[in-house]
Amino acid sequence: MLALMTAGNAERLASCERRYRDLARQLAEIGWIASGSLGLRADRCGKPNCACASDPARRHGPYWHLTAKVDGKTVNKRLREHEAQLYQQWITNDRTVRAVLAEMRTIAAEAQAIILADQAPDGTRQERGAASPQTRRAAARRSA
Ligand SMILES: [Zn+2]
Repeated sequence: MLALMTAGNAERLASCERRYRDLARQLAEIGWIASGSLGLRADRCGKPNCACASDPARRHGPYWHLTAKVDGKTVNKRLREHEAQLYQQWITNDRTVRAVLAEMRTIAAEAQAIILADQAPDGTRQERGAASPQTRRAAARRSA
């Protein structure tokens, strides 16, 4: 099937595959993921007589908050310190997954360009004006 591929292209394709598999392994080993971001924020407690109600400098905290989109809505959740630490790791993992996936797409596109060039009819490259699928089908009917 890949008999037409030059040694250089076969090597490039093999290199793409190695990098692709390495990245896929990284994904396989990733820990829990969570979307959203963490921030520190001071809060009002809601009691009308508390100093925090009128003086921003006397608000409580600061506390960690998670801001995330759930079903298209932005939700905000106050977190305890240990919860914030867990979310920090999960959010970092989520960013790693997205970065690895983006890299996999880039490598896949590189590999696909090599594969598609190799699959062009009669060893000609697609960009040099290969036959359209219609004319290929017509040619197949004629030779049948
Ligand atoms: Zn208060």
